Parts: sequence; structure tokens; C-alpha cells
Amino acid sequence: MDIADLSGKILNQDRRALARAITLVESGRADHRNQAAELLEQLRGSGRQALRIGLSGTPGVGKSTFIESFGLYLTGLDKRVAVLAVDPSSARSGGSILGDKTRMDLLSRDPNAFIRPSPSQNHLGGVARRSREAVALCEAAGYDIVLVETVGVGQSETVVAEMSDLFLLLLAPAGGDELQGVKRGIMEMADMILVNKADGDLKSAAMRTCADYSGALRLLRRRPQDPDGFPKAMTVSALENQGLAKAWEDMTGLVAWRKQQGHWDSRRASQAQYWFLEELRQGVLAQLQTGAIKAQIGGLSKAVEAGEITPSSAAEQILTGLNLRLE
Ligand code: GDP
Repeated sequence: MDIADLSGKILNQDRRALARAITLVESGRADHRNQAAELLEQLRGSGRQALRIGLSGTPGVGKSTFIESFGLYLTGLDKRVAVLAVDPSSARSGGSILGDKTRMDLLSRDPNAFIRPSPSQNHLGGVARRSREAVALCEAAGYDIVLVETVGVGQSETVVAEMSDLFLLLLAPAGGDELQGVKRGIMEMADMILVNKADGDLKSAAMRTCADYSGALRLLRRRPQDPDGFPKAMTVSALENQGLAKAWEDMTGLVAWRKQQGHWDSRRASQAQYWFLEELRQGVLAQLQTGAIKAQIGGLSKAVEAGEITPSSAAEQILTGLNLRLE
């Protein structure tokens, strides 16, 4: 593959080249990994930055409906929008629930939108790295906004938050006044909570849910990257296109403030460090899965089980073999 040619085409906003490049970064083959790394290194100098928006929510809250409506709203403002998905469940189900071709039907036909279903990978680390690289490719291809969607399970929110400038949590109206079992950690990551389905019979329930979450957000510790009024909860209706303009106005206001205060740049810089360390960790873990070391680990594991060696000495033996040492 001619990497310089591919890189030039991506910078020229060639969608097919972008799709091919994403396939390249998703590949696990060693030669593809090298080419992907070279491509990303070449594109690093593009200087293009998209607004990267992470979006999480449990199945059924309306993520695809929201992305379709919000994406069309943004393309209507002459923005170019890319949509990617991080889907840790695909490994279990054997197919991507976020990759369903029938989702986002109108948006997928919009020439200013690019939608990429999530790759099927067998662990979150791999999915995360590839999604992050896909985000970088979309940025280089000049997309103004990159939406990264994930289902609200396990660790995927953390991973998506680490590749986003803004993190949105989408909720559905609750029946009573209970907070919907949203973990505190996820609430703490959110810049905005959008209570969807604020229409028809569900409208009043949505407003109550929104008020509950506004209250809960006020109890959280204030983060330095938040201006007055953030993080905030608001109602939207993805189905009836209600609240989208207001949500966008709030997002752009927040981004402008963070840029002006230096939080945007410092967040990007600390994310780069996070991903460097994460790549390193994944790389070392991958080494542990290979032939000779894997067998050695198997042997030592049995010895540890039998009490013939302490866990730390066993680990030390492997790390010495890898030329790494415990502190
Ligand atoms: P996802 O699983 O989070 O992607 O959710 P979907 O977008 O597939 O939506 C799940 C269901 O909720 C579908 O039946 C949608 O039509 C419905 N839905 C999504 N957004 C809204 C909304 O704003 N109002 C109402 N009333 N229903 C909605």
C-alpha cells in the first residue's frame, strides 16, 4: 500500500481513502500495524482538529435516533460529521449491535456525513486503540465533528471519554424519581446529560428526570474545566428534533470557554500521554500472549499454584526475560 498516496487522499477529504485507512488501522496484522503507524505519523502534521464528542447511553435510550437527528442538524449548518462506534459487546454477541446498517439511514446518505460501524474485536483495549486512531483519521480528513458512540456498559465510557473533547450521557425518562442506576463515575465524566424522549406522553417524566439529574450534578465536585452551569442536564427529543439547537449552542459555548481558558489544549495533551502509556501497556500484554513466554507463564503459574515459588519471584522471572524489571 502506498502510504504517502493514501495520506494525500485523506487530506483531500477522499471518503474511500478514509474508509480504507480505517480498515488498515483496524487490522491486527503486523505489517498493517506498521503501515498504520506510518500513516498516522504522516497525518499528525495536518494540524486539523475536529470537535470530538463522546456519546454514551444504554441500549434503547435513543442513541442512533439522536445521532441521526443531531448529525443532520449539524450537516444542515454546513458541518462535516463523522460517526464512529466503540462497541465492547460485539465480542460477546459475535456481531456489532452498533454496526447495524439500517441505523441512521438519512445521515448515512448525507454527503457531509461519514458513518463507520464498529469493528468486531475481542477485547476493549484493541477496540479502543483502533477507534482512537479512526478518530485521528477523521480529523485529518477534515471532519468538523467526530461523534464517538458507545453503549453504557463496563469500561467503555472511560475509553471514549479519553478520546473526546466533550462527553455526553444520553438517558431516557425514568418512571419514578429514581436515578437510573447511572454510576457515579459515569456521571462525573459527563459534560452534559441529555434526557431524550421529551415528547408526547413522556415529556413530563423527562422533565422530572432532568430535574433529578440537575440536582445530582450540583452535588458533584466542581471540575476546573467547567464554567458556571456545567456539567448540566437538559431535555431533548431526538424523534421530534427538539432541544438539539440548544444542546449545540451549549456545546459550542463550553468549547469556546475551554479553549480560551487553556483547558482544551491541556486536555488534548494529557490524552496523548494517556494513550502513549495505554499503547505501551497493551504492547507488553500482547507480548505475554506470544509463544515461548506464554508457555513459560503457564509453567510458572502452575508453580505459583503449587506454592513452589512466590508470585513476585515468578513475575520477576518473566519480566527479566522481557528485559523489564519490577521496581
Ligand atoms: P439506541 O439503542 O440507544 O440506539 O436507541 P434507538 O435510537 O434505536 O431508539 C430506541 C427506541 O426509542 C426506538 O423505538 C426509537 O424510535 C425510540 N426513540 C428514540 N428517540 C426518541 C425520542 O426522542 N422520543 C421518543 N418518543 N422515542 C424515541
